[in-house]
Amino acid sequence: QTFKELGIVDPLCEACDRLGYKKPTPIQAQSIPLAIQDRDIIGIAETGSGKTVAFALPILQALLEKPSPLFALVLAPTRELAAQIAQSFEALGSLISLRCALILGGMDMVQQSIALGKKPHVIVATPGRLLDHLEKTKGFSLRGLRYLVMDEADRLLDMDFGPILEKILKFLPRDRRTFLFSATLSSKVESLQRASLRDPLKVSV
Ligand code: AMP
Repeated sequence: QTFKELGIVDPLCEACDRLGYKKPTPIQAQSIPLAIQDRDIIGIAETGSGKTVAFALPILQALLEKPSPLFALVLAPTRELAAQIAQSFEALGSLISLRCALILGGMDMVQQSIALGKKPHVIVATPGRLLDHLEKTKGFSLRGLRYLVMDEADRLLDMDFGPILEKILKFLPRDRRTFLFSATLSSKVESLQRASLRDPLKVSV
């Protein structure tokens, strides 16, 4: 099976090829066709399964169809993971002039406000700092957001980001797609799912 057979367009297939992604991993093969049909997805997959590419490709493909600023928000539990996700988006988006911003706790707020002011297509963030910007940064709004990803949702909740996620959700439009990825499906993850996803399809590897 190829990325093209999953419905991925040529410039993104070419980016995968350049990165040495010869064929889709199981989580990619299962979730990409559903995601590009505009469905909310719960993906049960571990780190190392290729889950980042599984959510990045459908988002980049939708962005190519209808380019607009502040298109997608990806929330991750740790700075390291957020940095890796941003790197994946940048690598896959290199052929389509993607603008991606990384918004992490512990870094300079003013610099980040300037980065957000440039209206990136994709924001990858840790939750606490993203909420700070939603509450404090003048002119920054995610009212037009099309895609939300919560990655490693079980870790987000174990790290007590639950109340912060709830607050962030209030700043986002209801009319959007949401992808939730988690290594496990705990009752906490299920309640986050009910609060944030609409009629989701579950894929697990
Ligand atoms: P992740 O599970 O998203 O942390 O990805 C784990 C690793 O797999 C990353 O280093 C990716 O670059 C790599 N990867 C993702 N998709 C593929 C693929 N289809 N073929 C080969 N490697 C991949």
